[in-house]
Amino acid sequence: MAEVRLQDLRKSFGETLVLKGVSTVVPDGSFVVVVGPSGCGKSTLLRMIAGLEEPDQGSITIGGRDVVRLEPGDRDVAMVFQNYALYPHLTVEQNIGFGLSVRGIPRAEIRRRVARAAEILHIGELLSRRPRQLSGGQRQRVAMGRAIVREPQAFLFDEPLSNLDAKLRVIMRTEIKRLHRDLGATSVYVTHDQVEAMTLGDRLVVMNNGRIEQEGAPLDIYARPETSFVGAFIGSPP
Ligand code: ADP
Ligand code: MG
Repeated sequence: MAEVRLQDLRKSFGETLVLKGVSTVVPDGSFVVVVGPSGCGKSTLLRMIAGLEEPDQGSITIGGRDVVRLEPGDRDVAMVFQNYALYPHLTVEQNIGFGLSVRGIPRAEIRRRVARAAEILHIGELLSRRPRQLSGGQRQRVAMGRAIVREPQAFLFDEPLSNLDAKLRVIMRTEIKRLHRDLGATSVYVTHDQVEAMTLGDRLVVMNNGRIEQEGAPLDIYARPETSFVGAFIGSPP
C-alpha cells in the first residue's frame, strides 16, 4: 500500500491542452474516485500514473518514490480497464496468472496468489473455464483477479463497469467496495458516472476540462459545491 501524490501535472496532445496542472493526494489505503464528463482528461491522468503516458510537466510519487521516469512495469501499480481483453485460449486460472508467469514468478507462488484472488472474487469454481464460458460480470472479476495477484501498491480503475448492464453495475460496485475493505489497497477509480462516484468514493476529485474543480468527501461536495460546474454535475438542486 502507498500514498499516490500528483503535483502540477500538465499534458498536451498537439495543440490541445488536456491536463492543465493537476495536483492531488490519494492517501494510503483510501479509495479516491476521479469523476468528470467524457473528455475531461480522466484516462490521461490515470494512464500517467500507470506510466502509459508521459507528463509534459509535473511529478508523480507512489509511496514517496518518484516514478515519472520509471517504466510501467516498475511502478508497482495495477490497472483495471473497461475493455478487459482476456486471452480467449487460456483458462481463467491462466488468464489471472499470466502477468506473473511472464515475470518469472515461481509456479507454486502463482498458484497460491491465483487461488487467493479467486477466493476473494468468488470465482474459485470458474478457474478451469475459458472466457467465452463466462458472463460479463465474471469476466470483469477475472480482469480484477489479474490486478490483485500482482499485489500492487495501488490499483487504478478506468471505468471498469461501463460495459456491464445497469443491474450488474450495481452488484459490482458493492463487490469493489468489499474488495477495497478486504485488501485495504490504495485505489484511484475513474468514472463519468456521478452515482458510481458517490457510492464508491471515500473522497471525490471532480474534474472538468483538464482541471480539478473540487475535491473532498462525497456528501460535502454534494451539499456544498464550490463552482457552478460542480453544482450542476454533482450537487444537490438549489
Ligand atoms: P476522459 O477519460 O475523461 O474521457 P481522456 O483523458 O481520454 O478523457 O481525453 C482527454 C482529451 O484528450 C480528449 O479531448 C481526447 O480526445 C484527448 N486525447 C486523449 N488521448 C489522446 C491521444 N493519444 N492523442 C490525442 N488526443 C488525445
Ligand atoms: Mg476515459
